[in-house]
Amino acid sequence: MLGDFDTDYTVKKWRRSGLKLLILGYIVLKNGKQKGVCLNTRKIIHIDADCFYAAIEMRDDPSLTNIPFAVGGSPSGRGVLTTCNYPARAFGVRSAMPTAQALRLCPQLKVGPVNMMKYREASKEMRRIFEKFTDLIEPLSLDEAYLDVSHSDLYQGSATHMAQTIRAEIREKLGITVSAGVSSNKFIAKVASDWNKPDGLKVVTPEEIDLFSAALPVKLIPGVGKVTAHKLERLGFQTCADLREADRNKLVRRFGSFGATLVERAWGRDDRAVNPARNRKSISVENTYAEDLENGHACFEKLSDLLVDLMLRIDKANAKNVVQKAFVKIKFNDFSSTTVEKAGTTARISDYRELLAEGLARKPLPVRLLGIGVRIETAGAEQLELHIPEGL
Ligand SMILES: [Mg+2]
Repeated sequence: MLGDFDTDYTVKKWRRSGLKLLILGYIVLKNGKQKGVCLNTRKIIHIDADCFYAAIEMRDDPSLTNIPFAVGGSPSGRGVLTTCNYPARAFGVRSAMPTAQALRLCPQLKVGPVNMMKYREASKEMRRIFEKFTDLIEPLSLDEAYLDVSHSDLYQGSATHMAQTIRAEIREKLGITVSAGVSSNKFIAKVASDWNKPDGLKVVTPEEIDLFSAALPVKLIPGVGKVTAHKLERLGFQTCADLREADRNKLVRRFGSFGATLVERAWGRDDRAVNPARNRKSISVENTYAEDLENGHACFEKLSDLLVDLMLRIDKANAKNVVQKAFVKIKFNDFSSTTVEKAGTTARISDYRELLAEGLARKPLPVRLLGIGVRIETAGAEQLELHIPEGL
Protein backbone atom coordinates (compact mmCIF):
# COMPACT_ATOMS: atom_id res chain seq x y z
CA MET A 1 0.00 0.00 0.00
CA LEU A 2 1.22 3.51 -0.85
CA GLY A 3 2.51 5.54 2.10
CA ASP A 4 3.17 2.45 4.11
CA PHE A 5 6.70 2.43 5.44
CA ASP A 6 7.99 -1.07 5.06
CA THR A 7 11.06 -1.17 7.32
CA ASP A 8 11.84 -4.75 6.48
CA TYR A 9 11.89 -3.95 2.77
CA THR A 10 14.26 -0.96 3.27
CA VAL A 11 16.69 -3.04 5.31
CA LYS A 12 16.67 -5.74 2.65
CA LYS A 13 17.28 -3.08 -0.04
CA TRP A 14 20.25 -1.68 1.87
CA ARG A 15 21.67 -5.14 2.36
CA ARG A 16 21.33 -5.82 -1.36
CA SER A 17 23.01 -2.49 -2.23
CA GLY A 18 25.88 -3.27 0.14
CA LEU A 19 26.36 -6.63 -1.51
CA LYS A 20 26.26 -4.98 -4.94
CA LEU A 21 28.94 -2.50 -3.84
CA LEU A 22 31.13 -5.33 -2.60
CA ILE A 23 30.77 -7.23 -5.86
CA LEU A 24 31.40 -4.05 -7.86
CA GLY A 25 34.53 -3.33 -5.81
CA TYR A 26 35.80 -6.85 -6.45
CA ILE A 27 35.20 -6.55 -10.19
CA VAL A 28 36.97 -3.15 -10.37
CA LEU A 29 39.96 -4.51 -8.47
CA LYS A 30 40.11 -7.67 -10.55
CA ASN A 31 39.86 -5.77 -13.84
CA GLY A 32 42.37 -3.21 -12.68
CA LYS A 33 44.79 -6.01 -11.98
CA GLN A 34 44.12 -7.78 -15.25
CA LYS A 35 44.31 -4.67 -17.40
CA GLY A 36 47.55 -3.48 -15.82
CA VAL A 37 46.16 -0.11 -14.77
CA CYS A 38 48.80 0.09 -12.08
CA LEU A 39 52.45 0.13 -13.20
CA ASN A 40 53.35 -2.64 -10.76
CA THR A 41 50.91 -5.02 -12.35
CA ARG A 42 52.03 -4.62 -15.95
CA LYS A 43 53.19 -7.83 -17.61
CA ILE A 44 56.17 -7.35 -19.89
CA ILE A 45 57.97 -10.08 -21.82
CA HIS A 46 61.38 -9.45 -23.38
CA ILE A 47 62.28 -11.95 -26.10
CA ASP A 48 65.80 -12.30 -27.44
CA ALA A 49 66.93 -14.97 -29.91
CA ASP A 50 70.10 -16.89 -29.04
CA CYS A 51 73.00 -16.06 -31.42
CA PHE A 52 70.35 -15.25 -34.04
CA TYR A 53 72.22 -15.07 -37.38
CA ALA A 54 74.42 -18.06 -36.47
CA ALA A 55 71.36 -20.01 -35.26
CA ILE A 56 69.61 -19.55 -38.61
CA GLU A 57 72.71 -20.77 -40.47
CA MET A 58 73.07 -23.79 -38.10
CA ARG A 59 69.43 -24.65 -38.65
CA ASP A 60 70.01 -24.70 -42.42
CA ASP A 61 73.30 -26.61 -42.12
CA PRO A 62 73.37 -28.75 -38.95
CA SER A 63 77.04 -29.68 -39.57
CA LEU A 64 77.86 -26.19 -38.20
CA THR A 65 76.09 -26.78 -34.89
CA ASN A 66 78.85 -28.35 -32.84
CA ILE A 67 81.87 -26.60 -34.30
CA PRO A 68 82.98 -23.00 -33.65
CA PHE A 69 81.03 -21.02 -36.21
CA ALA A 70 80.39 -17.35 -36.88
CA VAL A 71 78.64 -15.12 -39.39
CA GLY A 72 80.53 -12.10 -40.66
CA GLY A 73 82.95 -10.48 -43.07
CA SER A 74 86.12 -12.02 -44.45
CA PRO A 75 89.39 -11.54 -42.53
CA SER A 76 91.16 -10.11 -45.60
CA GLY A 77 88.68 -7.29 -46.11
CA ARG A 78 88.98 -6.14 -42.46
CA GLY A 79 85.64 -7.83 -41.87
CA VAL A 80 83.86 -7.98 -38.54
CA LEU A 81 81.83 -10.83 -37.03
CA THR A 82 78.14 -10.11 -36.57
CA THR A 83 77.26 -13.21 -34.51
CA CYS A 84 79.02 -16.35 -33.31
CA ASN A 85 77.71 -19.59 -31.86
CA TYR A 86 78.39 -20.86 -28.33
CA PRO A 87 81.24 -23.27 -29.24
CA ALA A 88 83.03 -20.20 -30.73
CA ARG A 89 82.35 -18.15 -27.60
CA ALA A 90 84.20 -20.78 -25.57
CA PHE A 91 87.34 -19.55 -27.37
CA GLY A 92 86.70 -15.93 -26.43
CA VAL A 93 85.24 -15.09 -29.85
CA ARG A 94 82.57 -12.39 -29.64
CA SER A 95 80.22 -10.53 -31.99
CA ALA A 96 81.58 -7.22 -33.37
CA MET A 97 85.11 -8.69 -33.15
CA PRO A 98 87.32 -8.29 -36.26
CA THR A 99 87.30 -11.62 -38.10
CA ALA A 100 91.10 -11.69 -38.23
CA GLN A 101 91.31 -11.37 -34.43
CA ALA A 102 88.68 -14.10 -33.96
CA LEU A 103 90.70 -16.44 -36.18
CA ARG A 104 93.80 -15.81 -34.09
CA LEU A 105 91.85 -16.86 -30.97
CA CYS A 106 90.25 -19.83 -32.69
CA PRO A 107 92.06 -20.90 -35.89
CA GLN A 108 89.47 -23.61 -36.68
CA LEU A 109 86.62 -21.05 -36.59
CA LYS A 110 84.38 -21.39 -39.64
CA VAL A 111 83.07 -18.04 -40.87
CA GLY A 112 80.01 -17.91 -43.10
CA PRO A 113 78.58 -14.93 -45.02
CA VAL A 114 75.71 -12.75 -43.79
CA ASN A 115 72.36 -13.70 -45.40
CA MET A 116 70.27 -10.75 -44.36
CA MET A 117 67.21 -11.80 -46.41
CA LYS A 118 66.93 -15.04 -44.42
CA TYR A 119 67.25 -13.24 -41.07
CA ARG A 120 64.64 -10.67 -42.03
CA GLU A 121 62.23 -13.44 -43.03
CA ALA A 122 62.81 -15.21 -39.69
CA SER A 123 62.26 -11.92 -37.89
CA LYS A 124 58.90 -11.47 -39.62
CA GLU A 125 57.87 -15.01 -38.61
CA MET A 126 58.77 -14.26 -34.99
CA ARG A 127 56.70 -11.10 -35.20
CA ARG A 128 53.68 -13.04 -36.47
CA ILE A 129 53.93 -15.29 -33.40
CA PHE A 130 54.16 -12.27 -31.04
CA GLU A 131 51.06 -10.78 -32.67
CA LYS A 132 48.96 -13.72 -31.46
CA PHE A 133 49.53 -12.47 -27.93
CA THR A 134 49.47 -8.67 -28.12
CA ASP A 135 49.52 -5.59 -30.38
CA LEU A 136 51.92 -3.84 -28.03
CA ILE A 137 55.22 -4.99 -29.55
CA GLU A 138 58.35 -2.85 -29.52
CA PRO A 139 61.11 -4.35 -31.68
CA LEU A 140 64.65 -3.48 -30.61
CA SER A 141 66.33 -5.26 -33.49
CA LEU A 142 65.58 -8.14 -35.87
CA ASP A 143 65.70 -10.71 -33.04
CA GLU A 144 64.72 -8.79 -29.95
CA ALA A 145 61.44 -7.25 -28.78
CA TYR A 146 59.41 -6.15 -25.78
CA LEU A 147 55.82 -7.35 -25.55
CA ASP A 148 53.29 -5.82 -23.18
CA VAL A 149 50.78 -8.61 -22.50
CA SER A 150 48.99 -6.90 -19.58
CA HIS A 151 45.75 -6.80 -21.56
CA SER A 152 45.85 -10.39 -22.79
CA ASP A 153 43.41 -12.88 -21.33
CA LEU A 154 45.18 -15.89 -22.84
CA TYR A 155 46.25 -18.55 -20.32
CA GLN A 156 44.25 -16.77 -17.62
CA GLY A 157 46.54 -13.78 -18.16
CA SER A 158 49.68 -15.70 -17.19
CA ALA A 159 52.64 -13.94 -18.85
CA THR A 160 54.90 -16.83 -17.85
CA HIS A 161 52.68 -19.29 -19.69
CA MET A 162 52.57 -16.95 -22.71
CA ALA A 163 56.38 -16.66 -22.75
CA GLN A 164 56.70 -20.45 -22.64
CA THR A 165 54.28 -20.82 -25.52
CA ILE A 166 56.08 -18.16 -27.60
CA ARG A 167 59.39 -19.96 -27.01
CA ALA A 168 57.92 -23.32 -27.97
CA GLU A 169 56.27 -21.93 -31.12
CA ILE A 170 59.45 -20.21 -32.30
CA ARG A 171 61.41 -23.39 -31.73
CA GLU A 172 58.86 -25.41 -33.66
CA LYS A 173 58.23 -23.01 -36.57
CA LEU A 174 61.66 -21.43 -36.99
CA GLY A 175 63.96 -24.14 -35.66
CA ILE A 176 65.87 -21.74 -33.41
CA THR A 177 65.77 -20.98 -29.68
CA VAL A 178 64.94 -17.71 -27.97
CA SER A 179 65.30 -16.67 -24.34
CA ALA A 180 62.61 -14.77 -22.48
CA GLY A 181 62.45 -12.52 -19.44
CA VAL A 182 59.13 -11.82 -17.74
CA SER A 183 58.52 -9.04 -15.24
CA SER A 184 56.45 -5.93 -14.61
CA ASN A 185 58.80 -3.50 -16.35
CA LYS A 186 61.09 -3.34 -19.38
CA PHE A 187 64.38 -3.05 -17.49
CA ILE A 188 63.88 -6.13 -15.32
CA ALA A 189 62.39 -8.14 -18.22
CA LYS A 190 65.44 -7.36 -20.36
CA VAL A 191 67.94 -8.30 -17.66
CA ALA A 192 65.91 -11.47 -16.97
CA SER A 193 65.96 -12.64 -20.60
CA ASP A 194 69.75 -12.77 -20.38
CA TRP A 195 69.68 -14.66 -17.06
CA ASN A 196 69.28 -18.24 -18.26
CA LYS A 197 70.55 -17.76 -21.82
CA PRO A 198 70.61 -19.72 -24.13
CA ASP A 199 67.14 -21.24 -24.44
CA GLY A 200 66.15 -19.90 -21.04
CA LEU A 201 63.23 -18.33 -19.22
CA LYS A 202 63.43 -16.18 -16.12
CA VAL A 203 60.44 -14.69 -14.32
CA VAL A 204 60.88 -11.89 -11.78
CA THR A 205 57.60 -11.18 -9.98
CA PRO A 206 56.84 -7.66 -8.68
CA GLU A 207 57.55 -8.94 -5.14
CA GLU A 208 60.96 -10.26 -6.20
CA ILE A 209 62.12 -7.10 -8.02
CA ASP A 210 63.55 -5.43 -4.90
CA LEU A 211 65.92 -8.29 -4.03
CA PHE A 212 66.68 -9.17 -7.64
CA SER A 213 67.70 -5.63 -8.57
CA ALA A 214 69.67 -4.99 -5.37
CA ALA A 215 72.14 -7.74 -6.26
CA LEU A 216 72.62 -6.66 -9.91
CA PRO A 217 76.06 -5.40 -10.89
CA VAL A 218 75.77 -1.81 -12.21
CA LYS A 219 77.24 -2.89 -15.56
CA LEU A 220 74.07 -4.88 -16.27
CA ILE A 221 71.95 -1.70 -16.32
CA PRO A 222 71.18 -1.05 -20.02
CA GLY A 223 73.02 2.08 -21.11
CA VAL A 224 75.94 1.49 -18.77
CA GLY A 225 78.83 0.73 -21.09
CA LYS A 226 82.39 -0.12 -20.15
CA VAL A 227 83.37 3.51 -19.53
CA THR A 228 80.39 4.35 -17.31
CA ALA A 229 80.73 1.04 -15.42
CA HIS A 230 84.36 1.87 -14.74
CA LYS A 231 83.49 5.38 -13.53
CA LEU A 232 80.75 4.00 -11.26
CA GLU A 233 83.06 1.36 -9.83
CA ARG A 234 85.70 4.01 -9.10
CA LEU A 235 83.02 5.94 -7.21
CA GLY A 236 82.43 2.79 -5.13
CA PHE A 237 79.29 1.55 -6.86
CA GLN A 238 79.56 -2.13 -7.78
CA THR A 239 75.95 -3.22 -7.42
CA CYS A 240 72.54 -1.60 -7.59
CA ALA A 241 72.37 -1.87 -3.79
CA ASP A 242 75.45 0.42 -3.63
CA LEU A 243 73.82 2.85 -6.06
CA ARG A 244 70.72 3.10 -3.86
CA GLU A 245 72.89 4.74 -1.21
CA ALA A 246 74.24 7.30 -3.69
CA ASP A 247 73.52 11.01 -3.53
CA ARG A 248 71.10 11.43 -6.44
CA ASN A 249 72.13 15.06 -7.11
CA LYS A 250 75.75 14.07 -7.27
CA LEU A 251 74.97 11.38 -9.84
CA VAL A 252 72.97 13.85 -11.92
CA ARG A 253 75.85 16.35 -11.82
CA ARG A 254 78.20 13.60 -12.92
CA PHE A 255 76.11 11.74 -15.51
CA GLY A 256 73.40 14.24 -16.50
CA SER A 257 69.82 12.97 -16.72
CA PHE A 258 71.16 9.40 -16.98
CA GLY A 259 72.22 9.82 -13.33
CA ALA A 260 68.55 10.03 -12.33
CA THR A 261 67.76 6.99 -14.50
CA LEU A 262 70.53 5.07 -12.74
CA VAL A 263 68.90 5.65 -9.35
CA GLU A 264 65.53 4.51 -10.70
CA ARG A 265 67.04 1.33 -12.17
CA ALA A 266 68.97 0.67 -8.95
CA TRP A 267 65.58 0.30 -7.26
CA GLY A 268 64.36 -1.94 -10.09
CA ARG A 269 62.03 0.81 -11.34
CA ASP A 270 61.28 1.59 -14.98
CA ASP A 271 58.00 3.20 -16.00
CA ARG A 272 58.73 3.40 -19.75
CA ALA A 273 55.84 2.05 -21.78
CA VAL A 274 56.25 -0.62 -24.42
CA ASN A 275 55.97 1.65 -27.42
CA PRO A 276 55.27 0.10 -30.83
CA ALA A 277 55.94 3.48 -32.50
CA ARG A 278 59.27 4.02 -30.81
CA ASN A 279 62.00 4.65 -33.31
CA ARG A 280 65.52 5.87 -33.25
CA LYS A 281 66.09 9.20 -34.95
CA SER A 282 69.33 8.18 -36.58
CA ILE A 283 71.65 5.25 -37.12
CA SER A 284 75.32 5.88 -37.73
CA VAL A 285 78.82 4.46 -37.63
CA GLU A 286 82.07 6.31 -37.20
CA ASN A 287 85.74 5.61 -36.88
CA THR A 288 88.58 7.57 -35.34
CA TYR A 289 91.71 6.70 -37.28
CA ALA A 290 95.00 5.86 -35.60
CA GLU A 291 96.69 8.09 -38.17
CA ASP A 292 95.04 11.16 -39.66
CA LEU A 293 93.70 10.79 -43.19
CA GLU A 294 95.90 13.26 -45.04
CA ASN A 295 93.80 13.88 -48.14
CA GLY A 296 90.47 13.40 -49.84
CA HIS A 297 91.60 10.22 -51.55
CA ALA A 298 92.39 8.56 -48.19
CA CYS A 299 88.96 9.59 -46.90
CA PHE A 300 87.08 8.26 -49.93
CA GLU A 301 88.86 4.92 -49.51
CA LYS A 302 87.33 4.50 -46.05
CA LEU A 303 83.75 5.05 -47.22
CA SER A 304 82.92 1.54 -48.39
CA ASP A 305 83.99 -0.08 -45.09
CA LEU A 306 81.87 2.38 -43.14
CA LEU A 307 78.95 1.74 -45.46
CA VAL A 308 79.10 -2.03 -44.89
CA ASP A 309 78.91 -1.48 -41.12
CA LEU A 310 76.13 1.06 -41.52
CA MET A 311 74.06 -1.31 -43.67
CA LEU A 312 74.39 -4.03 -41.05
CA ARG A 313 73.11 -1.66 -38.38
CA ILE A 314 70.23 -0.43 -40.52
CA ASP A 315 69.24 -4.05 -41.14
CA LYS A 316 69.52 -4.94 -37.48
CA ALA A 317 67.21 -2.05 -36.60
CA ASN A 318 64.82 -3.09 -39.38
CA ALA A 319 64.94 0.51 -40.61
CA LYS A 320 65.63 0.19 -44.31
CA ASN A 321 62.23 1.49 -45.32
CA VAL A 322 62.22 4.54 -43.08
CA VAL A 323 65.49 6.15 -44.17
CA GLN A 324 64.93 9.84 -44.89
CA LYS A 325 68.35 11.46 -45.03
CA ALA A 326 71.98 10.53 -45.32
CA PHE A 327 74.71 12.40 -43.47
CA VAL A 328 78.47 12.49 -43.20
CA LYS A 329 80.33 13.69 -40.13
CA ILE A 330 83.95 14.79 -40.35
CA LYS A 331 86.26 15.68 -37.50
CA PHE A 332 89.40 17.51 -38.63
CA ASN A 333 92.74 17.29 -36.89
CA ASP A 334 92.13 20.67 -35.19
CA PHE A 335 89.20 18.84 -33.44
CA SER A 336 86.58 20.95 -35.19
CA SER A 337 83.82 18.95 -36.84
CA THR A 338 81.25 19.39 -39.53
CA THR A 339 78.17 17.47 -40.65
CA VAL A 340 76.67 17.45 -44.15
CA GLU A 341 73.19 16.07 -44.79
CA LYS A 342 71.11 15.17 -47.79
CA ALA A 343 67.39 14.41 -47.82
CA GLY A 344 65.54 11.97 -50.05
CA THR A 345 68.14 9.24 -50.25
CA THR A 346 68.34 5.54 -49.62
CA ALA A 347 71.92 5.82 -48.34
CA ARG A 348 73.81 4.92 -51.49
CA ILE A 349 77.58 5.10 -51.74
CA SER A 350 77.19 7.86 -54.36
CA ASP A 351 75.30 10.02 -51.84
CA TYR A 352 78.05 9.59 -49.29
CA ARG A 353 80.77 10.45 -51.83
CA GLU A 354 78.95 13.65 -52.68
CA LEU A 355 78.44 14.58 -49.02
CA LEU A 356 82.04 13.78 -48.13
CA ALA A 357 83.34 15.98 -50.94
CA GLU A 358 81.16 18.83 -49.70
CA GLY A 359 82.33 18.40 -46.11
CA LEU A 360 86.01 18.15 -47.02
CA ALA A 361 85.75 21.35 -49.03
CA ARG A 362 84.88 23.22 -45.83
CA LYS A 363 88.40 22.95 -44.35
CA PRO A 364 91.73 22.07 -45.96
CA LEU A 365 92.86 19.95 -43.01
CA PRO A 366 93.72 16.27 -42.37
CA VAL A 367 90.83 14.22 -40.95
CA ARG A 368 90.90 12.25 -37.68
CA LEU A 369 87.35 10.91 -37.64
CA LEU A 370 84.84 9.94 -40.30
CA GLY A 371 81.25 8.98 -39.66
CA ILE A 372 78.29 8.23 -41.89
CA GLY A 373 74.68 7.70 -41.00
CA VAL A 374 71.01 8.00 -41.83
CA ARG A 375 68.21 9.97 -40.25
CA ILE A 376 65.05 7.93 -40.03
CA GLU A 377 61.38 8.67 -39.86
CA THR A 378 59.93 8.55 -36.36
CA ALA A 379 56.45 8.74 -34.92
CA GLY A 380 57.92 11.09 -32.32
CA ALA A 381 58.98 13.60 -34.97
CA GLU A 382 55.40 13.99 -36.16
CA GLN A 383 54.29 14.63 -32.62
CA LEU A 384 56.95 17.27 -32.18
CA GLU A 385 55.77 19.15 -35.26
CA LEU A 386 52.23 19.09 -33.94
CA HIS A 387 53.28 20.57 -30.63
CA ILE A 388 55.49 23.39 -31.87
CA PRO A 389 52.72 25.65 -33.28
CA GLU A 390 50.85 25.44 -29.97
CA GLY A 391 53.84 26.82 -28.13
CA LEU A 392 54.28 29.75 -30.53
MG1 LIG B 1 69.87 -11.99 -29.59
